[in-house]
Amino acid sequence: KSQNIVKLEKKIRLVHRRISNIRNNNLHVITNEIVKTKPSRIVMEDLNVKGMMKNKYLSKAIAEQNFYKFITYMKYKAEFNLIQFIQVPRFYPSSKTCSDCGTIKKNLKLSDRVFKCECGHVMDRDLNASINLSNYRVS
Ligand SMILES: [Zn+2]
Repeated sequence: KSQNIVKLEKKIRLVHRRISNIRNNNLHVITNEIVKTKPSRIVMEDLNVKGMMKNKYLSKAIAEQNFYKFITYMKYKAEFNLIQFIQVPRFYPSSKTCSDCGTIKKNLKLSDRVFKCECGHVMDRDLNASINLSNYRVS
């Protein structure tokens, strides 16, 4: 290896480390902001991160967004601030359930970004799922 290549490799490693630090810092900023709103509880999905990593279309985005770290930070900050932290079971159908009438839509695809129920309820998919999570009760 030439001196120049060694130098470039070092530069690339430093850039990767910097990006990783920025992402990690962002996770702290976001989780701190959530805790600062003093919610009575925080409900998160137990995302099947390992399973999603096997999906070649999702794996890069998931790895980059550090989902697992996000859950870990959120959980310890919630507990530290005496906020109830609930992780819903992996197969709870938060996206497939109509937040208005409770019907479960069996054929919801990942590409369906808008949730449309037979009852007439139409809502952004993620907002619909968030409402379902906020209404989640441990039975
Ligand atoms: Zn409905």
